[in-house]
Amino acid sequence: MSGGVRYDLPEIDDFTRPYWDAAAEGRLLLRRCAECGRAHHYPREFCPFCWAGEERVAWEAASGRATLYTWSVVHRNDLPPFGARVPYVAAVVDLAEGPRMMTEVVDCPVGALRVGMALRVGFREAGEAGEAGEGIWVAVFVPEGEGGG
Ligand SMILES: [Zn+2]
Repeated sequence: MSGGVRYDLPEIDDFTRPYWDAAAEGRLLLRRCAECGRAHHYPREFCPFCWAGEERVAWEAASGRATLYTWSVVHRNDLPPFGARVPYVAAVVDLAEGPRMMTEVVDCPVGALRVGMALRVGFREAGEAGEAGEGIWVAVFVPEGEGGG
């Protein structure tokens, strides 16, 4: 599949480029505020907790560890490319550093999903060679201990 409208690709700009560059290398980045000490996600230039300015908020590497907060098994989604992917597990996870993140849980049978289960980050390329998502890697989560990474 190539061409056509895609609803899963991020808008990458100068501010978010470090995040996507790190993701392509298999690293999840967070933003942490030096003023109040809290980390946040998705990335914002200003701290969403104390509104400290961008000069007080910096990128840092996340551990990649998280726990499952909630999820929904999606059986139908008419927006491309999701329709070709169903069923999939749309999830909200709590990162070890504190932020809550919308993502997808992969490589886990639906029946094995549990609130609070340990997860770790993995990355999936959004498109194959020649497609719009080539070179864009999105964070997904797998059960801790899967794959022996
Ligand atoms: Zn702050």
